[in-house]
Amino acid sequence: MGLFSGLKRLIPSSREGNANVLWLYVRCGKCGTPLAVRVNLANELSADYENGGYTLHKEMMDSKCFSLMHARLHLDDQRKIVEQTIEGGEFITEQEFKSMSQ
Ligand SMILES: [Zn+2]
Repeated sequence: MGLFSGLKRLIPSSREGNANVLWLYVRCGKCGTPLAVRVNLANELSADYENGGYTLHKEMMDSKCFSLMHARLHLDDQRKIVEQTIEGGEFITEQEFKSMSQ
């Protein structure tokens, strides 16, 4: 059940504003493939009642070796990233992503 509702949310809505979109740039820890992952802040964040702000859990897979990467982010009340960790890969910058994917 959870999986299907998760998949549904990946379908982009045409009315969605850019303010609710966050891009994560990561690199696969196995083969080094860079990956850009789109996050919809409007419905992918969970409120963090313990620490305040929001948490985001994101699973992603690169298209080369199909390794699963699991990112966990903590965001403040303004939905700015304050902490991010990833298993199976590493975070890169948008610039690094663009130079790697050329
Ligand atoms: Zn890979």
